[in-house]
Amino acid sequence: MTLEGKQLIGQQAVLSNGNAIHAVDPATGETLEPGYKAGSRAEVERACELAWTAFDTYRETGLEVRACFLETIAEEIESIGDDLIVRAMTESGLPRGRLEGERGRTCGQLRLFAQVVRNGEWLDVRLDPALPERQPMPRVDLRQRHIALGPVAVFGASNFPLAFSVAGGDTASALAAGCPVIVKAHAAHPGTSELVGRAIQRAVAKSELPEGVFSLLYGSGRELGQALVRDPRIKAVGFTGSRSGGTALMQTAQERPEPIPVYAEMSSINPVFLLPEALKTRGKELGNAFVGSLNMGAGQFCTNPGLVIAVKGEALDAFVAAASEAVKDSAAQTMLTPGIHDAYVQGVDGLLQSSTAREVARGATGESQNACQTGLFLTSAKDFMSDETLQAEVFGATSLVVECTDLDEVKHVAESLEGQLTATLQMDEDDLGAARLLLPVLERRAGRVMANGWPTGVEVCHAMVHGGPYPATSDSRTTSVGSAAIYRFLRPVCYQDLPQGLLPEALRDGNTAGVSRLIDGHRET
Ligand code: NAP
Repeated sequence: MTLEGKQLIGQQAVLSNGNAIHAVDPATGETLEPGYKAGSRAEVERACELAWTAFDTYRETGLEVRACFLETIAEEIESIGDDLIVRAMTESGLPRGRLEGERGRTCGQLRLFAQVVRNGEWLDVRLDPALPERQPMPRVDLRQRHIALGPVAVFGASNFPLAFSVAGGDTASALAAGCPVIVKAHAAHPGTSELVGRAIQRAVAKSELPEGVFSLLYGSGRELGQALVRDPRIKAVGFTGSRSGGTALMQTAQERPEPIPVYAEMSSINPVFLLPEALKTRGKELGNAFVGSLNMGAGQFCTNPGLVIAVKGEALDAFVAAASEAVKDSAAQTMLTPGIHDAYVQGVDGLLQSSTAREVARGATGESQNACQTGLFLTSAKDFMSDETLQAEVFGATSLVVECTDLDEVKHVAESLEGQLTATLQMDEDDLGAARLLLPVLERRAGRVMANGWPTGVEVCHAMVHGGPYPATSDSRTTSVGSAAIYRFLRPVCYQDLPQGLLPEALRDGNTAGVSRLIDGHRET
């Protein structure tokens, strides 16, 4: 499949005039062709105009049509075959197995949203019929459903070139909700983005949808990305990336004449609490398993376990000793981009120079460019709580062990943490009391609390929450993974005393749409 290096605007492929963006093979430093000439306000204007024109038609497509569209995107992505995997490997340095798994997850996610759309629960239909005889005042007829917010700007993430990028969770959930999507491609994987973008273009055409349902733009975030978020026709933003990028977009969105929601997933260090009995009985085993999780994807997961908290003593020493051996045996994996590698080296240097943390073990240095040297550091609870730089996310395979004097101090450390995507308890039966003590704190601090697992690995399903208080995300009420992600792009509308002929089908008497409805507070059978 030949890559053209063009912006995909509706059904067109357009050559822009800006400076060319080239992907770089992070393993070799080689510049990859083609260049993608950066778009400008003109491309943003055209994509937004098309998206706005498509919006009213697209949001009222039948549930079956929209579900089939999502399934067609999945089929079109699969039909690209190995070209997609090979290009993504070259652009990201990620191994084949990981990317094949990610493609499966991306297509599975689209198919999950197709099921969600068909099911219609997300419309959240509520009918409170008129009560003309009610005393002292009659009640009017009130009917509610959810509608799509409007065109959504999606910023593809660098660390999941498929599952959190052009056809990733943000795009799938926004399209499922009935929102046209304009993606700003991540500069780290423009070719992968074009292949997936063209698959969506084909699915739009095959499904006979308005062309503005999808566009893919290339350009610098500061110019093109900011212009996109400022455009009055954009009604919500999905973002995964750095805290500085996410907060910049939140600010832009708030400063608009009409502020809009930004669903940004930013930074999380995912604390793991080793409770005393678990540590005593299986400290060594936990040390090995922990490093396995730490090294996954060179630590470039938002759920990477960047913090371990436990009571100090022999049991923790055994954990640290086992983890140190595993760290020393860790091969250096290529990181996604030279920029991410530089940021990682800077973060590790910060720990090396810190007077409050000490190095415990480092992994192999590796021969390829941009290789990630695994690291393990140690600090005391007192130092951790007094030095806020130790809470900063070091994006990559480095983690910090925090030694506490007792369980009360473990709880204080938990209380001192910023918002997190996950919190993990390693616990045995006899740790239940300690776990109960921590649970209320962890619920307040994290979007997902788990026992005896590792945070890397996020299931795409109905009960998943991939979210959490700031700075893990910009809006702790939502999730960016799983079927509940659709609610980010919907809002309720109430229809009062509208005649049957004017009501949307799902709200009419007789329920010809066949969706689940709440009538006067009772579920319709
Ligand atoms: P990033 O720098 O935040 O960039 C992500 C996207 O946002 C890019 O398309 C970028 O565009 C755009 N962007 C950034 N700042 C912007 C701004 N002020 N206005 C408008 N758009 C803006 O993230 P990254 O390139 O993926 O990685 C950099 C760092 O982010 C990593 O080292 C890591 O610390 C963190 N990160 C965290 C996660 C996580 O899940 N927690 C995931 C990925 C990265 P341009 O590149 O075109 O400017």
